[in-house]
Amino acid sequence: MNNAGYTVTTDDEQQLRCSIFSAERQQEGIMNKFCQSCGMPMKSDPGHGGTEADGSKTDEYCSYCYVNGAFMQPEMTAQEMQAFCIEKMKEQGMPKFVGWLFTRSIPKLRRWHTA
Ligand SMILES: [Zn+2]
Repeated sequence: MNNAGYTVTTDDEQQLRCSIFSAERQQEGIMNKFCQSCGMPMKSDPGHGGTEADGSKTDEYCSYCYVNGAFMQPEMTAQEMQAFCIEKMKEQGMPKFVGWLFTRSIPKLRRWHTA
């Protein structure tokens, strides 16, 4: 299991909190920068985005969530994704409140919108 995308340094933590707080007022901006499935900053994705079925890149989902035009965990709910990400971050030694900040916007992401 590759979870390097959630490796966060102390400096990143400060930046992360700022970006998440401002994200609430800048929904449009954050949409372009975060995976629309797990909420991971796209700049932290070592694969620089997921791949479509034809092999082209998408910047909508990260390389952990979206491969060859399909989600890695198609049955997952937003709540399960949230729990999964908090668990991954705990493994990286991240404080629980950071995990919570990181993941609380997951249900608002595009993948989980069933309008
Ligand atoms: Zn993702």
